[in-house]
Amino acid sequence: MQKVLPDPSPLARPYFDGCREGQLLLQSCQTCDKPQFYPRVVCSHCGASTLHWTPASGRGSVASFTIVRRAVSQAYDAPYVLALIDLAEGPRMMSQVIDVDIDTMTVGIEVSVAFEAWSDEIDMPVFRPV
Ligand SMILES: [Zn+2]
Repeated sequence: MQKVLPDPSPLARPYFDGCREGQLLLQSCQTCDKPQFYPRVVCSHCGASTLHWTPASGRGSVASFTIVRRAVSQAYDAPYVLALIDLAEGPRMMSQVIDVDIDTMTVGIEVSVAFEAWSDEIDMPVFRPV
């Protein structure tokens, strides 16, 4: 059984290409200079369409999380930590926290990005404690 894979749109393709190259990319606005995640056609802060892709630091902290004890299929190894990560650059993204003891998992821990190959074409960002 295979994990449910994203089917990147042309808009999101640079993001997934970055993941395959081991780099977390964010859209950044050339008008107001703010980054955003997820990929959009226009800036979520000022509405400009002057967006370009910039590398993120890959650092962040856990804003919230849940322990998934019963996965949607056998392709996922439960239990695992599903978290909202506040990236150092500002945007919040949902991801998995790996290499962590679920019994001592807590909000606020510092994490850094890593990438897991989910298929030959898709690498997904995950985070591990710093
Ligand atoms: Zn903007």
